[in-house]
Amino acid sequence: MPPEKAQDRPVPKAADVMDGLMQPRPLTIAHILERVERLYAHKSVVTAGAERLTYAEVAGHTRRLATVLDALGVPVGARVGTFASNTRRHLEVYLGVPATKRVLHSINIRLPAEHLEYIVEHAEDDVVFVDRGLLPRIWPIAGRLPLVRYWVVLPDGSDAEIPADSRILDYDELISAADPFAGSFEDTFVLADENLASGLCYTSGTTGPPKGVLYSHRSTVLHCLGTLAAGLIGLCESDVVLPIVPMFHANAWGLPYGAMMAGASLVLPGASADPVHLLTLMEAERVTVAGAVPTVWTSLVPGLRAHDLSATRFLLGGGSAVPPALSERYRAAIGVPITHSWGMTEVSPVGVIGGTRTQHRDADADEQVAVRAAQGQPLPLVNVRIADVETGRELPRDGVAVGELQVAGPWVAGGYYRVDAAGSFTGDGWLRTGDLATIDADGYLRLVDRVKDLIKSGGEWISSVELEAALASHPDVVEVAVIARPDPRWMERPVAYVVLRDGSAATADELLSHITPMVAKWWLPDEFFFMVSLPKTGTGKLSKVALRDAARIT
Ligand code: ADP
Repeated sequence: MPPEKAQDRPVPKAADVMDGLMQPRPLTIAHILERVERLYAHKSVVTAGAERLTYAEVAGHTRRLATVLDALGVPVGARVGTFASNTRRHLEVYLGVPATKRVLHSINIRLPAEHLEYIVEHAEDDVVFVDRGLLPRIWPIAGRLPLVRYWVVLPDGSDAEIPADSRILDYDELISAADPFAGSFEDTFVLADENLASGLCYTSGTTGPPKGVLYSHRSTVLHCLGTLAAGLIGLCESDVVLPIVPMFHANAWGLPYGAMMAGASLVLPGASADPVHLLTLMEAERVTVAGAVPTVWTSLVPGLRAHDLSATRFLLGGGSAVPPALSERYRAAIGVPITHSWGMTEVSPVGVIGGTRTQHRDADADEQVAVRAAQGQPLPLVNVRIADVETGRELPRDGVAVGELQVAGPWVAGGYYRVDAAGSFTGDGWLRTGDLATIDADGYLRLVDRVKDLIKSGGEWISSVELEAALASHPDVVEVAVIARPDPRWMERPVAYVVLRDGSAATADELLSHITPMVAKWWLPDEFFFMVSLPKTGTGKLSKVALRDAARIT
């Protein structure tokens, strides 16, 4: 008898379908807090070298914060804002707010006042925790935010003036006067839903008002486990993790929660992004894993060889494309490249991570560089596909077809907080990212450009990302951004804004001849502008919007 074919087997009846018999315990941030408290109490949390606490002390403060929030009458489900740098006090709020079923709204400290006002009001923050040094930045709009009942000041070594106002409270005073919550945070969740909201982050609002992404406990824990996966970021107990990326930038890419889940020590850089400060911290604390946007990695390059960074095992770069030349400069100087990661606030944020696989072991050096330049492979449980921008039809995974990147997964947004943004999702619920990418037969994703940054010249597309990578490979180029300039004949033409190394006399002609072998002739920029610095967004990325504004290109 021929073997039975799968399609000939009877479809199971509904009665044959049954639930598993495993405990339906929710996935929650409370578990991360209790885990770090029980297993890794002695491990350290260092803030900018000045303050060294253990997780036991941090968790102790968090237990007191739980009763403080109750005493202040902050309802379960209320949004609690933070306006703070990466410090241990911020970390305590990061844990205490969601572990007590409130929603942590980490606010970007570099937003302009009108955006700040919009998001604090839109989120209806009940209380905002603010670094003392940052109070002068947000207090001027406090009068227009009547829903915020309390502003709790986090001491940060600054002596910024604290206005006399009954709504302003001192964090350390509240914590030292409070009794610690004595129960189990995790047990308070046992009957609760893991889909409860845990955090809220607003996108930067470069294309309209900022939109809120509302994370759940479940999505946060799954994202955390995803980033812990060995072979990807693979955080482990022996790591010393430095999130340079701010805790308000999509939760510092999950690094703080991930470090605690794994039992790794944390090093928090505080308010300063000074390159020497960061390098000194990496050297002194023997940091093994750090994450930052490419502009920060660029700023550290001149000091790399002056510091002992031998403990480093993994550097994460994302938020915008990491030029391969930058990653290779790190590999040459300290033996560790920058591992590329693609993500967005809507993706918690890490969705894709780079690096080579066994199949690349024997590849030549250039091919390995090319593989590392790709954004990489999706994390477990994340699905990616590309679709034709006009028809929405899915495109082949052949490494050639370019389409809009769409993402689905348990830590990908399915909607925005109190806004109808149906256009951001496909009919079958995938997130439309606004990024253009290729996916190859091995599942590697390469980002070609953002839809809005792509340059359309004479009916053909030019990738600003590829041009920037080519220009960044010139040894004198420190930073570069390529944008489209309207052109009567070609519709748009590329122009490049370049920051050169101090003392360099490189000319436009020299840069052109450097990139001529790397790109098509008609891709060569029409003009070069040499700048002292380039404008950055609130999350430290190069701001093409600001460049276009400055060039009066809309
Ligand atoms: P925004 O920059 O809009 O404030 P996000 O920080 O969420 O918000 O940024 C998400 C966007 O950043 C992505 O859609 C993509 O365009 C860009 N991006 C993120 N990671 C990478 C990467 N590794 N390479 C290239 N672009 C990236």
